[in-house]
Amino acid sequence: MKCSRIQINLSDYSRGLLSAEESRKIAEHLADCAECRRVFEDERRLADIFASAENREAPRDVWYLVEAGIQTDNKTTVTEKINVWLRTYKRRLAAAAAAAAVICSVAVTINVHNAAVEAEKNRAREALAMMHLQIAGVDQQTSTTEAMIAEIEKIAP
Ligand SMILES: [Zn+2]
Repeated sequence: MKCSRIQINLSDYSRGLLSAEESRKIAEHLADCAECRRVFEDERRLADIFASAENREAPRDVWYLVEAGIQTDNKTTVTEKINVWLRTYKRRLAAAAAAAAVICSVAVTINVHNAAVEAEKNRAREALAMMHLQIAGVDQQTSTTEAMIAEIEKIAP
């Protein structure tokens, strides 16, 4: 299998989403190919960061930078790598939107019930604390994005 074909599947591979047959082919390729092993390690590091970061919508300029990076990049393997990364990232943003909707509904409930129930206020405070954690997570993701863009620019200036 070609390296580009391997690399586009590494994200799913590292998360155990491929069939046994596909996983076996990739494992065999990784055993022989240092370049793909390096990409695989990057994927795993990125996956770890995503797993430990809280969810929140990314600032607009992150999308702008990533999209600009894709548009100016003609190297297929790098573009595919970004696309794989974006797929993962978009799924997490969808999860973040769902979490934000839950937090908003908690806030609305508190207003309707006139803040009489102290326990609900505490839930709102916890929700706020969570949002602060999520903001910290986005800062981390933004740094990761900037680091990736810097890496990509080194490969495909
Ligand atoms: Zn390879």
